[in-house]
Amino acid sequence: MTSLDIDIEAKPLTTTIHALSSLSWHNISFSTPTKQILTSISAHVPRGEILAILGSSGSGKTTLLNILAQRNQNGGKTTIGGDMWVNGGVRLTGEVVREVGTYVEQEDALLGSLTVRETLEFAARLALPDLSRALRAERVTTLLRAFGLTEQADTQIGTALARRKGISGGQKRRVSVACQIISMPRLVFLDEPTSGLDSAASREVISHLQSFARAHGMIIVCSIHQPSSATFGLFDKTLLLSRGKQIYFGRVGEVEEYFHRIGKPVGKGVGIADHMLDVTNVDFWGDEEEGNRHVEEMANAWSSSPEASTLEHLLTAPSPASASHLPRSSSRNHHSTFWHQILTLTHRTLLKSYRDPLAYTIRFFMYLALALLMGTTFLRLPATQSSLQSLTNAIFFGGAFMSFMQVAAIPSVLEDLVMWGREGTGRGGGEGLYGPGALLVSGGVVGVGFLGGIVVVVGVVSYWMIGFQPTAVGFWKYVMWLFLDLYAAESLVVLISAIIPIFVGALTITAFVNGLFMAVGGFLVSPNQLNVFWRYTFRYIDYQRYVFEGMMKNEFANRRYSCEGQRCIYDNPLAGEGYISGQTFLDQNGYGNVNEGKWVAVLLGIILGMKLLTWSIHPQPRAYTPNNHFTMAPKTFTKDEVASHKDPSGSGLWIIVDNEVYDLTKFADEHPGGKKILLRNAGTDASKPFWKYHNQAILNKYKAKLHIGSVGGGASSATPNTIVQSKTGTSTGGANPAPGKAASSKDSAEVAKIAKVPGAAQSVTSSSPKTSSAKAPAPGKGTLSGSGEVGVTPATSYAAPMPSGSKSTPVQDDEAEIQYFGDMNPYADPSWYQGWHSPYYKPHHHALRAEIREFVETEIEPFVHEWDEAKGMPNTIYEKMGQRGWLAGCLGVKYPTKYTDVRCKSVPPEKWDHFCELVITDELSRCGSGGVVWNLLGGYGIGCPPVLKFGNEEVKKRILPDVLSGKKRFCLCITEPDAGSDVANLVTSAKKTADGKHYIVNGEKKWITNGLLSDYFTVAVRTGGPGMNGISLLLIEKTMPGVTTRQMKCQGVWASGTTYVEFDDVKVPVENLIGKENKGFKVIMTNFNHERIGIIIQANRFARVCYEEAFKYAQKRKTFGKKLIEHPVIRDKFANMARQIEATHANLELVIYQMEKMGDVEAMLRLGGAVAGLKAQSTKVFELCAREASQVFGGLSYSRGGQGDKVERLYRDVRAYAIPGGSEEIMQDLMMRQGMKVAQALGAKF
Ligand SMILES: Cc1cc2nc3c(=O)[nH]c(=O)nc-3n(C[C@H](O)[C@H](O)[C@H](O)COP(=O)(O)OP(=O)(O)OC[C@H]3O[C@@H](n4cnc5c(N)ncnc54)[C@H](O)[C@@H]3O)c2cc1C
Repeated sequence: MTSLDIDIEAKPLTTTIHALSSLSWHNISFSTPTKQILTSISAHVPRGEILAILGSSGSGKTTLLNILAQRNQNGGKTTIGGDMWVNGGVRLTGEVVREVGTYVEQEDALLGSLTVRETLEFAARLALPDLSRALRAERVTTLLRAFGLTEQADTQIGTALARRKGISGGQKRRVSVACQIISMPRLVFLDEPTSGLDSAASREVISHLQSFARAHGMIIVCSIHQPSSATFGLFDKTLLLSRGKQIYFGRVGEVEEYFHRIGKPVGKGVGIADHMLDVTNVDFWGDEEEGNRHVEEMANAWSSSPEASTLEHLLTAPSPASASHLPRSSSRNHHSTFWHQILTLTHRTLLKSYRDPLAYTIRFFMYLALALLMGTTFLRLPATQSSLQSLTNAIFFGGAFMSFMQVAAIPSVLEDLVMWGREGTGRGGGEGLYGPGALLVSGGVVGVGFLGGIVVVVGVVSYWMIGFQPTAVGFWKYVMWLFLDLYAAESLVVLISAIIPIFVGALTITAFVNGLFMAVGGFLVSPNQLNVFWRYTFRYIDYQRYVFEGMMKNEFANRRYSCEGQRCIYDNPLAGEGYISGQTFLDQNGYGNVNEGKWVAVLLGIILGMKLLTWSIHPQPRAYTPNNHFTMAPKTFTKDEVASHKDPSGSGLWIIVDNEVYDLTKFADEHPGGKKILLRNAGTDASKPFWKYHNQAILNKYKAKLHIGSVGGGASSATPNTIVQSKTGTSTGGANPAPGKAASSKDSAEVAKIAKVPGAAQSVTSSSPKTSSAKAPAPGKGTLSGSGEVGVTPATSYAAPMPSGSKSTPVQDDEAEIQYFGDMNPYADPSWYQGWHSPYYKPHHHALRAEIREFVETEIEPFVHEWDEAKGMPNTIYEKMGQRGWLAGCLGVKYPTKYTDVRCKSVPPEKWDHFCELVITDELSRCGSGGVVWNLLGGYGIGCPPVLKFGNEEVKKRILPDVLSGKKRFCLCITEPDAGSDVANLVTSAKKTADGKHYIVNGEKKWITNGLLSDYFTVAVRTGGPGMNGISLLLIEKTMPGVTTRQMKCQGVWASGTTYVEFDDVKVPVENLIGKENKGFKVIMTNFNHERIGIIIQANRFARVCYEEAFKYAQKRKTFGKKLIEHPVIRDKFANMARQIEATHANLELVIYQMEKMGDVEAMLRLGGAVAGLKAQSTKVFELCAREASQVFGGLSYSRGGQGDKVERLYRDVRAYAIPGGSEEIMQDLMMRQGMKVAQALGAKF
């Protein structure tokens, strides 16, 4: 190892945080033998959304929540039907929920004596054992801030007995929720999270949840009772139930319109949630049948509504998603070791025991009082025969009473059990973070310390006061017996509390058992007289008896008692001397044969027995086995069954990949790699050869079509199946680990070398200084002018900004999030995805990123190859981008709220910035196809901005709403067969008609992106004399006669539709002039920065995609006995790619930051050169990476489809980025010329 080698030791990282995209359920029903509780309930919740399940009591909302969360539903007495799945096709099982989700109970389970911060810290220690202390602290700080608990961080939660008042109910709720999402589960179920809270506190809780769902791409499902309007408005969607029937599902904002439509309009001044509950609550109608009819009517209205059909369609349409998208919550698969659990729990129990009076303090004073009571009652008993009985009484009373009073420990033990129920494997299905072993050992360890202290004090006070045998050995033995007594009594309390975890029940039974032990111990009734039942049953397990007999032996065996000058009451060898031997007293009373060592061993055995019994009756850690009593019925096959399907023309051709069975009978002839290789692997487990030659995208693509079941009931990720009752009460199904590399331990170990921190999200505060100097004029300097393009003469006078010394106004620090997003391959994502600090990205960028990624992974990536080959793609994708509010934000301006009602889910318009557009374009480009990205953003992103910025207001109002919402399309027509780089020489003419109302346009435009698809054409035409001052821009509409388009045959970007456009006497109204006549060139120039930035983002992500694909391939392809990545020459290629990509991206972010700060014109002038240079840089890097990645893939990236698919396609797309939007030569030239102009304007002399 050289000094430069870094060997980072880390736990395996299998995180794919981004990957939970949706939760769906279809026709869920639930019944007991006597009652139908739920009937056909369906819904779909995508990532980042929060759903409210609403309904009056008894409507079935908690039952539904429990079914979704896979919690017990009365075991085998119930029947559950329907389908539940995540990511469009991964069956929702207990294992899946445990792996990626959490359930937050209605009741808070918190330790009252801990502070809010400590509570979260311990939750983090238990849930995130792999996270470093610093990162855990950051996570805690983030959650405190996110849930508005910073001010209460150091306040104790509070108990009934706490001296200081604790936090409020709403704050407790937030702490509970924060504790359970500390490991960033992707799926959160909350049972009535606002119950018991006032409306302000409820709103607070839901609002924090909402922002968390958005920022971290979680799916949150809450049952909720009666939310206020403000609280209800925070939910994205709502599902309304009444008497177990579905009354509504959909967006909260659409509820009002729905009820209006079905004839139950929301009254004036009535809250929507109130209305929903009012119209569905028939409990007080009196007439049961009438009530049922009413519910039935509304359920029918729902099932025949268009909303229900859309939902049905969504839920039943085949989905490309697959188990590979199943995420692993950031920490769930990193279980802490037993020792880590014990250490953490011991630390926490110590804190609690020290602070919580109920734990030990009360008991300490109680025992002290008991010691004083005994000491003063049996005060200074002399060693005489008349004290024999009193000493015996003192021994009995001390042991029995101390043991009895251990009932005081019950509240504390129950509190621990409740905590365990939430965090551990306790009743009700906790998070499974620790089992009963850790709970008992930690409690036991702390108990030894505290009880030890108590008995020493009790001993010191009482032993000498009473006058027991005055020797040190006698004293310490007494203390030992007391300790064993108390420890056994505490073990009994823990055992009984485990059996009956209810205070009054545990108290009653413990008191009874203690009474029983007192009665049969031998003191009250001599063992010889004790009835045989008690003698041979409870007397043997009566720990009080052993303590009593041990103490008796301790006191009497080695002591003699004076007969006080009278006749000795026991005949004994010392009677002649006037004493009674203590041994004689013991013999006479049946305690003569007590063997102290044996009794200690028996006591320890009883204690251990009670502990073991407690341990065994507690639910054990389930290692992610489902806790549900129902499961899906996947089709399962034995390996032999699969092996019998080897013949495509007979029994069929089946193979196994990662435990899943695929039927390739029909597909065999279509297999791009040929049929032969399939025949060779027919009937076998072909996982190894499959992963050797394919990547995840291939499996995703064909899974829905070819998957038929799984092997031997193992983990399956089949498309939804029907849920059936499991007779065994355990699931036969389970979530499939992400197939292929991600799932293998070998690969996890590989990844472990790369990243130390498990995927997780946490925020830090970083400062983002802003200046207010951007537009300050430069004193005494010349003016800077220019159009930003070759051959352009000054068009705009511009007061240049001050280069330095200008005033800067520091603004408050912004909160910047740090997140781990993606699969953490080095350099395969921008650094802010991989936990680097960044001043640019805020929580809404993170949320937007998650939103887009889900879309790309589920709706685009699996189909790219198909679309590219087909040289086109469905318009629905573009429409969806419009409906989701992304198109409207991709025009290089602030969010155009004036012309559209569509909004982006993650980012409110006022927060929209250039970085949002960067995130959208960058994430979209991960699909690895210039054609697809240009189909969606190409023409629109360059054709629409001129209209938006300079178009006629009437025209804008007419056309933009449809364009921004994805219904209509745009393209930009500048280039002509004879005018490309030299825009000013274009010849397409636009002559005004005599009446001045129209232009007649004639000419041809070439290589027009999206021309074929477009409704609107932003066209550069000549309206004046030669050169740039005779150019105008016109909006030409497809419907205008004389517009013809034809697709061009090109090298790359196939799906974008590169088009040849002709205009023959097209009559265009003058209102369609964009900007001023003959001033179109300036409009074209202002458009360039935005166009080029788009190209830069895409080109650099494509470079990354090439790098990433090749990097992944290099991990598995072996040559000369080594993986490709192990060859230094290949690593050098990756280093060359990565350093270029990273540098380009850093520069890109810097430039975008400048755009954010500068106005349009300033940006055009000052950044024109920088953007031009960066454009050339990005396309050159793209070219380099396409080439090098292709080399890494070898022949695989020369053939189309398969593993090298993306690289092969992107290689063909390279030129489509290097040429348009300003070719590389032009860009480099512009960079220098523009740079010099700016420098001169700022005072440079050269
Ligand atoms: C895939 C694709 C999509 C396109 N989409 C659109 C679109 O949507 N709308 C649209 O209007 N146009 C579009 N174009 C056209 C594109 O803008 C032009 O191709 C580009 O401006 C270059 O023009 P040209 O092809 O005529 O090359 P030319 O201008 O003829 O240049 C040829 C070569 O000479 C170099 N060169 C030219 N002048 C100089 C100089 N002064 N100094 C040094 N070198 C020079 C160039 O860099 C280039 O390498 C698209 C092109 C492609 C390939």
